[in-house]
Amino acid sequence: MKLLFILAFCLPTLSFAQSIKYALKMPKPQNHYFEVEMELRDFKASELTVKMPVWAPGSYLVREFSRHVNYVKAVDENNKELKVTKTAKNEWKIAKGKSKKVKVNYDVYAFELSVRTSFLDLSHGFVSGSSVFFYVDGFKQLSGTLDVHPYSSFKTITTPLTKSAESVQGDGAVERFTFTNYDELVDSPIEIGNHELFYFQSGGTHHQVALYGLANYDMEQLKVDMEKITAAATDVFGQNPCKEYTFIIHNVINGQGGLEHANACVLSVNRWTYSPAEYNGFLSLVAHEYFHLWNVKRIRPIELGPFNYDEENYTTLLWVMEGFTSYYDELLMVRAGYYSKEDYLRKLQGTINYVEGSTGARVQSVAHASFDAWIKAYRPNENSGNTTMTYYSRGAMLASLLDAMIIDKFDAQKCLDHFMRYLYDEFYVKKKRGFTELEFQEALETFMGQDMDQFFNDHVYGTKIPDFKSVFSKVAVNVVYTGKPAASFGASVAQEGGKTIVKSIRSGSAAEEAGISVGDELIACNGIRVDQNTFDNFISSLVAGEYIELIVAREEIVLNLQTKMTTYERPGFRFETMTPSNEKFYYWLRSLH
Ligand SMILES: [Zn+2]
Repeated sequence: MKLLFILAFCLPTLSFAQSIKYALKMPKPQNHYFEVEMELRDFKASELTVKMPVWAPGSYLVREFSRHVNYVKAVDENNKELKVTKTAKNEWKIAKGKSKKVKVNYDVYAFELSVRTSFLDLSHGFVSGSSVFFYVDGFKQLSGTLDVHPYSSFKTITTPLTKSAESVQGDGAVERFTFTNYDELVDSPIEIGNHELFYFQSGGTHHQVALYGLANYDMEQLKVDMEKITAAATDVFGQNPCKEYTFIIHNVINGQGGLEHANACVLSVNRWTYSPAEYNGFLSLVAHEYFHLWNVKRIRPIELGPFNYDEENYTTLLWVMEGFTSYYDELLMVRAGYYSKEDYLRKLQGTINYVEGSTGARVQSVAHASFDAWIKAYRPNENSGNTTMTYYSRGAMLASLLDAMIIDKFDAQKCLDHFMRYLYDEFYVKKKRGFTELEFQEALETFMGQDMDQFFNDHVYGTKIPDFKSVFSKVAVNVVYTGKPAASFGASVAQEGGKTIVKSIRSGSAAEEAGISVGDELIACNGIRVDQNTFDNFISSLVAGEYIELIVAREEIVLNLQTKMTTYERPGFRFETMTPSNEKFYYWLRSLH
């Protein structure tokens, strides 16, 4: 009785409501610092821990965002300074005692314009949340508000965050946004400046598009094309969970691709990408990032959300998240009418030849490539070609195989789209969580009504070349093996500063046997001075077994090296349509032209 009484008595005190308010200011964009204030009310503990994420979800590399934070200060409700102690690379502890209100202030240097980092100058500001906003340890689930104070000449703020009715009206005024938890706050990129904006409707979803930077786009054409692409993506799933969706596009000198968010994406593209020669590449990027709103943001491995922002989040399934998305970014281009079926087969053939023609494809499985993304995919070196194969291309290749298998098995009544819908319903809608590696395989087996161990052992955990001929013949595509043994040296060179520099060496090649290293300057072959062109011509004139004498310079020391040409067979495939009118072929690409 007593215990119950005490509990009942204590309940009201447990129901205190902590609140969190952020303010983002940028009074001097020329110094590239965002000023952040966090106002924390009614937190009970005498000490609070605030942290900065070390990575940006969707980009699997520890980037140590806290290296851009110079100091952290905190004051109580009486403006009295509170002790702040840095306790880890991305963690600060605030001795708040009994204070009811704590204000935490810090500046973040933002001068890296990429889709996963933040930037500020006099032309605009871009916030990738995980590189700007701290969270309170143990309180990521708290909802709150964000006040954006734009620089005086910045008139427009674009973000997928919900705008609060409490915003101050008028150009350049403070806008208040709400978020339901920290994950949503940092999954919502913010573009602040004087960018162009346009809107379009597709499949019941309202889209806003922010375009920063001088570029050769035609806004009316973009509306038409982005509507078609987003509609084709929505058709795959038959529904779109977003009522509103935001594109933030940075037009720059060196575009770097895109980053997905739950209700938005950020694209970084070359400012002349809208010219006819490159435009399809842009639309394919739109398709890729948009497809992610389902695949990875909602259909996802269990490790990818809720995120651990403090360290690597390992999953073996990036080949499904990125690979299947890469498969669809090309497939949607055919379905939406931008690629002919011949274009498409050429692209698929290119992907497959890239994967199976690479030495690294025999070393690294797609599951390992996924797991090691953190230390390998984002950190390539001169030996990567020998040891790695990207989960993007190999995952896309496996998606194409599965699609053909499903279409054949269900007699052109079902395709990979239906498996994607199945994953969406089973995990995102019903279980409301991600899947484990085993659950993914089980889901595929349930959907297919057959054991898939062989497929997973050979092609997901193994590195075996698939039987393309047998699989693609089911969808009326003839695959011809084109690999044949040829004389090979196994090194690539490039002309740099008037010198011929070795750029890569294939494992087990004649070049490796000779003792050449990447970075060596190649001076002469068989007594003749060479540059990149004459070297390539010289090598292609040799037959297997022929003797080569090389003069190279390494660290300014001249070396004489010898080797013999060897034989190498690079696997290759040619894709040919057998009967374009075939029902399964048509069903696969949904294209008659
Ligand atoms: Zn992607």
